[in-house]
Amino acid sequence: ETELLLSQRTRDIRFSPEMVRAYRQKDWPQRSKIARAWMVWVALISMAFVPISFLLAPNSLWLTTAISGLLVPALHACAYLVWRKPRAAAVEGLSLILLMSSVMIAYGFLAVAAGGSDYERFLTCIMYVNTIAIVVFNVDYVWSLGLMACSTGIFFAFEIFNPAIDLEEAVGTTVFYAMGIYAATIARKTQSILGQKAFLLSLRNQYRSDALKSAIHQLEILATHDPLTGLGNRRSATDLVERLWRDATIPKASIAFMMADIDLFKRLNDTAGHAAGDQCIRRVAKTIEESVRWGEDAVFRYGGEEFFIVLTHASPDLAWTIAERVRTAVEALTIVNPGVQLVDGSTDMVTISLGVAFAQEDVAPEIVAKWADDALYDAKRGGRNIVFL
Ligand code: GH3
Ligand code: MG
Ligand code: MG
Repeated sequence: ETELLLSQRTRDIRFSPEMVRAYRQKDWPQRSKIARAWMVWVALISMAFVPISFLLAPNSLWLTTAISGLLVPALHACAYLVWRKPRAAAVEGLSLILLMSSVMIAYGFLAVAAGGSDYERFLTCIMYVNTIAIVVFNVDYVWSLGLMACSTGIFFAFEIFNPAIDLEEAVGTTVFYAMGIYAATIARKTQSILGQKAFLLSLRNQYRSDALKSAIHQLEILATHDPLTGLGNRRSATDLVERLWRDATIPKASIAFMMADIDLFKRLNDTAGHAAGDQCIRRVAKTIEESVRWGEDAVFRYGGEEFFIVLTHASPDLAWTIAERVRTAVEALTIVNPGVQLVDGSTDMVTISLGVAFAQEDVAPEIVAKWADDALYDAKRGGRNIVFL
C-alpha cells in the first residue's frame, strides 16, 4: 500500500482504514502536543484579556471576568483533558467543534453586552481565532469543514442580531470571513496531505532498511554456514581459531582440534546414491553436534564428509571421551553402507574416524590442524572407526 500510494499523485493519496490507524498512532504525540499547547495558551490569553478589557470598558468587568476569565479557560481545560490521551477521530473532531463553538458563542454574548463598535470587533476577533485554530488542529478534513461551518454559522447569527448593521451588511461580512476561513480549511487539508506523504516516505524508509538488514543477515549466514548441515563452514572455523589465538587469556594447551571423517563414504555414495550420501552427512553432522559439549565445543563442516571440531578448556582425557562419544554415537545411528564388503568382524554400518591434536603456545593453528589430520590418517590406517590422539 505504501508503494502504491507513493506512486500516485500526492493529492490522490487516500489511506486504507489500517493505514489511517497507523498514521494516527504515529502522529499522535505531535498532534496532541500542539492541541494541548493551544488549550493552555488560549486559556491564558483569554484570562489576560480581563484586565485589558477593564481598562477599556470598566463597566463590564463582571461579565468579562465570568466569560473571558472563567468560562473560556474552563472550556479549554475540558478540551485539554480530552486531548490528554488518544481518542477516536470523531471524539477529537467533536471536542474541537464543541470548544470552538461554545467559545464563539460566549464571546458573542460579550459582544452583545459590549454593543456599539465593540460588537463587531469581538466577533471579528473570535472568528480570526477560529480560523487559525483550523490550521493548527490536525483533524480529518471533515472535522475541519465542520469547524468552518459552525464558526461561520455562529458568526452569521450574531451578525444578524447586530443592531448597528443591516441584513445586507451582515451577509456581506459573513461571506467575506467565510472565504477567509475556507482558505484556512484548504491550507489545513494541504498540510494534512503532506503529513501523510511524509508518513508514507518514513514507512518506505523503514521497509527498505529492514529488507536490507535481513538481506545482510542472510548473506552472513550464507557466507559462514554450510547449507546441507547448517553447521559453520571452513571460513567460520578459521574465524573462530583466529579469535582463540588472539585471546591471550586462553591457554593454548587447553585447545584441541578434532578432525572427523566418515569411513568409506565414497562407497555409500556410489551404491546408495548421492541423495542417501547427503542424508548420511546430515545425520552424522547432527549426531556430532549432539555429542559435544554445548557452548564449549564448536563443530564445522570442513569438506565433503569431513568435520572439524574445536574443543576449548579441554584435557586429553576429556578430548578422548568426547571423541569416543562421537564415534560410538555415529555407529549407533546404524546407517547401512551397502558398498562395504564384509570381512570377518567388520560391520556394514556407517562409522567415523577421528584424529585429535592439542595446541601449544607458539604453535600456529595450521600446524595443530595438520597434527589432527595426521592423527586422522593414522586412525584410517589403523582400520577406521577409531579415535587417534
Ligand atoms: P575414507 O574412509 O578413507 O575416508 O574413504 P572415503 O570413501 O570416505 O573417502 P573419500 O575422500 O575418497 O570420499 C569422499 C567422498 O565424499 C567423495 C565425494 O564424492 C563425496 N562427497 C563429498 N561431498 C559430498 C556431498 O556434499 N554430498 C555427497 N553425497 N557426497 C559428497
Ligand atoms: Mg571418508
Ligand atoms: Mg574425506
